[in-house]
Amino acid sequence: MRKPYIAGNWKMNMTPSAGAAFAKELAKALEGVDTKVMIAPPFVTIPAVLEAVKGSNIIVAAQNMNDHLSGAYTGEVSPAMLKDLGVTNVILGHSERRAIYGETDEFINKKVLLALSESMDIDLCVGETLEEREAGKLEEVLTRQVSVGLSGVSAEQMSHITIAYEPVWAIGTGKTATPEDADDAHAFIRSLVEKLYTKGVAEELIIQYGGSVKASNVKSLMSKKHIDGALVGGASLSVEQFLPIVTFD
Ligand code: PGA
Repeated sequence: MRKPYIAGNWKMNMTPSAGAAFAKELAKALEGVDTKVMIAPPFVTIPAVLEAVKGSNIIVAAQNMNDHLSGAYTGEVSPAMLKDLGVTNVILGHSERRAIYGETDEFINKKVLLALSESMDIDLCVGETLEEREAGKLEEVLTRQVSVGLSGVSAEQMSHITIAYEPVWAIGTGKTATPEDADDAHAFIRSLVEKLYTKGVAEELIIQYGGSVKASNVKSLMSKKHIDGALVGGASLSVEQFLPIVTFD
């Protein structure tokens, strides 16, 4: 019922020329593959990638955006600019934005609402740190991140939201949550969304797992009931590694 959705977050990697070459190769390799696929290049690489994936089903997303449409915000990029380029999707609330740039749930929520007002689809990232998990705060953290992150989002707008559960301790560390632990967290997020919205909204919500996803673990993760996709960092940087994740066979 929920279509698998695999996304690649390139983070601060890939120049425009490298990104375009990668995207062309990926688009060719994915001909005939039915999985929903998204790649998120750095801002300056987006135009070259958009050009390279023309005619394919690959979705191109931004990794972030400003919380305003325009104005005196030196060095920032607004959703209106992204939309004008033809970017339809944006990742918000990535743990690196939270940890390195101090983004709070309230600030992320502001961007969620602005992106929705610009008709963009959102990948909202949530996830606990190791400290929080060990202190037994997993559910408390997820409850806060999901409910504040989605504050003001209507049930109808939820069709534009994907949630990525990314335990911070699993990102870029080679440590993956076990499929069982990840599935438990996903089930918890789904139950939260059911409480906030309806059973129907919760059942249709795509929840991706992120954190050291690779070809060798994607199949067991994807076999779990509540895991509908993956948000992939490191292993999305080469077609050789990313392709078997997309096809997870
Ligand atoms: P990773 O990153 O796959 O390199 O762990 C995932 C992410 O940050 O989205």
